[in-house]
Amino acid sequence: MLTVEGLRSRYGRIEVLHGIDFTVNSGEIVSIVGANGAGKTTLLRCLSGVQPITHGDITFRGEVLTAVPAHRRIRLGLAQSPEGRQIFTKLSVEENLRLGAFLYSDERVDKDLADAFAMFPVLKEKRNLSAGGLSGGQQQMLAIARALMGRPSCLLLDEPSMGLAPILVAQIFDVVKGLKALDVTVLLVEQNAFGALSISDRGYVMETGRIVMTGTGGELIADPRIREAYLGV
Ligand code: ATP
Repeated sequence: MLTVEGLRSRYGRIEVLHGIDFTVNSGEIVSIVGANGAGKTTLLRCLSGVQPITHGDITFRGEVLTAVPAHRRIRLGLAQSPEGRQIFTKLSVEENLRLGAFLYSDERVDKDLADAFAMFPVLKEKRNLSAGGLSGGQQQMLAIARALMGRPSCLLLDEPSMGLAPILVAQIFDVVKGLKALDVTVLLVEQNAFGALSISDRGYVMETGRIVMTGTGGELIADPRIREAYLGV
């Protein structure tokens, strides 16, 4: 579904991605894990089209995205739930969700909204309250639910567990795992290697702008190098 080959990107004269290769197959949850500063966010920004790439190709559902602007990528089914959530705090929960469906103006939006509320009952309870009043975990659920309102076939998630209490972290990973049942393919970028790899079909480990290791989620969790470097074991 998504193939990245030889991707390089830079900020000014400093190259931060030095030739990244990976694939995400339809229906998979794939994680890219790595420490703070490894380049994970930059990579997702390249995929969503807001960060220029200097070399390489991104192919999504058979179409080369390199020259495709960000808004068209969303229409093609590639959606991002950004780091730091970026919800509209002054708008209500429901308004935030409806904004996620800005591409559509049909009655299916109401059905999608009902589905989102069924998946996240707490958002239904608080649908008329301003989103800024939600807890961190609830805001993260709103960010994911809002991205789903765009009916993506592939969802890019940037650090959904960031800044959450452990019990909420577990809940968020459960939510991400549940996206499989909705036929949404997921590329998950995380510093929480254990949480991410536990729910992933496959994973890639990124260090200073390069992919240094890949395997199934289980293989990577069991690998002594990963356990020492990322899992604190
Ligand atoms: P984090 O988990 O903190 O988001 P990350 O793995 O996502 O880390 P990036 O944010 O992609 O890493 O950063 C990769 C490198 O690019 C880092 O060295 C960072 O300092 C640098 N960088 C990020 N944003 C910019 C920017 N706007 N201008 C210059 N350098 C940047």
